[in-house]
Amino acid sequence: MSDPDLILVIDEGTTSTRAIAFDGDFQPVAVAQAEVPLSYPDDGWVEQDGQEIWDKTLQVCQDVIAQIGGAERIAGIGITNQRETTLIWDRATSQPIAPAIIWQDRRTAERCDQLKAAGHEAKVQQETGLLIDPYFSGTKAAWLLDNVDGARTRAEAGELAFGTVDTYLIWRLTGGAVHATDMTNASRTLLYPLNISPDAGWSTAMLELLNVPASLLPEVKPSGARFGATDPALFGRAIPILSAIGDQQAALVGQGCLAPQTAKITYGTGAFLVANTGAEIPKSENRLLGTLGYGIEGGGAAYALEGAIFNAGTVIQWLRDELGLIADAAQSEEMAEGLDDNAGVYLVPGFTGLGAPHWDANARGTVTGLTRAASAAHLVRAGLESAAYQTRDLLTAFAADGADVALLRVDGGMAANDWLMQFIADICDRPVERPDFMEMTALGAAALAGMQLGWVTEAAWAARTAPGRRFEPNMSDDLRNTLVKGWQRALKQTLTT
Ligand code: ADP
Repeated sequence: MSDPDLILVIDEGTTSTRAIAFDGDFQPVAVAQAEVPLSYPDDGWVEQDGQEIWDKTLQVCQDVIAQIGGAERIAGIGITNQRETTLIWDRATSQPIAPAIIWQDRRTAERCDQLKAAGHEAKVQQETGLLIDPYFSGTKAAWLLDNVDGARTRAEAGELAFGTVDTYLIWRLTGGAVHATDMTNASRTLLYPLNISPDAGWSTAMLELLNVPASLLPEVKPSGARFGATDPALFGRAIPILSAIGDQQAALVGQGCLAPQTAKITYGTGAFLVANTGAEIPKSENRLLGTLGYGIEGGGAAYALEGAIFNAGTVIQWLRDELGLIADAAQSEEMAEGLDDNAGVYLVPGFTGLGAPHWDANARGTVTGLTRAASAAHLVRAGLESAAYQTRDLLTAFAADGADVALLRVDGGMAANDWLMQFIADICDRPVERPDFMEMTALGAAALAGMQLGWVTEAAWAARTAPGRRFEPNMSDDLRNTLVKGWQRALKQTLTT
C-alpha cells in the first residue's frame, strides 16, 4: 500500500458544504458539494439543521473518498467553516438541542442594545476586539440556554456542549471524543479574550456578562494543530484532523498573507477585508474588528484586523433576480465595460444596513444621480462600482488604524469580473492580485494541515507565488477624486446616523 498522499479539506459554508482533496502540491484532485438549506422562521431569524450539516458533510467526504479510491490516501483532514454560527448539543447523543443559529441571525438585537445601553461596549471591545452585535456567537448561545426548555439546567449539570460549526464537525468526526475549537473561531464568539497568553482560556468576564456557563465550552487550540482522529467507523480508519480555521482567516492563509501588513479581500455575497497585523494586538478606533488571524502549533501566530462589507455580490443577484437587468452575473462585466463613464449614477447597497466602517443597521439602499440619460447599464455599473468604493472606505479605516495595505489579494465569486478588478485597482490606487485558483478558503485549511504533516513550511507557504493576474492602478488622480466625491455624496444621503 502506498503512503497517504492527499489532504481532505471540509469547507462548510453558509449555503453549502464541500469536501476537496488536495495533493502534495496543494492542487485540488477531487471535489464534492451538497447544499444545506437555510430557514427563516421569524423576522431576522436564520437557521440551519445541525444534524443536516453533519449528514451532508459526511456525505461529501464519502463522495470524495470514493473518487480518490479510498481513505488510505488521506494523510490528514483540514476544516474551514462559516464563522459565528452557534450550536448547542447533547453530549450523550450528539443531537443539537435546537437548530443552529446562523451568523446572519438578528434575534439577539434587543439583548445587544441592552448591553450597549448599559455602557459595556468599550470594555467588550477592549477584551474581545469585537463590537456588541448579534452577529457574534455569545448572545446566540445565551439565547438558546434561555429559550430551549431545560437547557440552562442541563448545561449547568454538564450535559450539553457549545460550539461553532468547526467544533460540532470535530465532535461528530471523532465520535464525540474531542470537544475543541481553534483560536480564530473562538475569537468570534465574544467569549474569548483577544489578548491571548500561552495558557489563555475563555474570558471569565465575558462569560459572566453574557451568562454562559464554562461547562459548555470547548478546548481552544491553534488553527494548525492535532485535533484528534476520526472515528474508524466513519471512513474505515482513524484519520488525524490537522487544522480548523474560520473561513475568512482561512482565505488569509490561503492567500499566503503570513507577514504583517499583508491583506486579502474576498468578494462573495458580502466582502471581507482581513489584514495580518502580526504579533501586535489590533486596536481599532474606526469600528473595525480585532481578531485572531491564525495560530500554528509549534509555529507562528498572527492577529488580524477585519472589515466586513455586508452587500457585495448580493447587488449583482438583486440586479439579476429582482430587476431582471442582467441574465447572469457575468453579463454585468460587458455592460459596465460598454459605457464610457458612470454618468454620475451611484448605488449604495444598504440592503441590510451598512457594515464596516459605518455600522449603520438602519441605512437602506439608495440610487443617486439619476438623469434622463441613465440606462440599465448605468445601474449595473453603479452596482459593480459600489464594491470598489466600499473597499476604498475600508482601506481608509484600516490605514487610520495603522494597517496600511499596499496590495490587495482578491478572491471570491465577484473577483472573476475583470472590469471590476481593474476598477478596484483604480479607485483604491493599489495593485490587485487575483490567483487563478480562487478556492482560497479550502486552500488555507489545506496549507495548515500540510504544515502539520511537514509537507510545507510556513516560510515556503508565505513565499509561494500562485499563478494569476495582476491589475495595476491606471486612473488619473483628478478622475478618481471626482468619482470618490460622487460616492461620498451618495453615502451621505444614505447614512442615518
Ligand atoms: P459565497 O461564498 O458568499 O456564497 P461566492 O464567492 O460563491 O459567494 O460568490 C458569489 C457571488 O459572486 C454572487 O453574489 C454572484 O452574484 C457574484 N458573482 C459571480 N460572478 C460574478 C461576476 N462575473 N461579476 C460580478 N459578480 C459575480
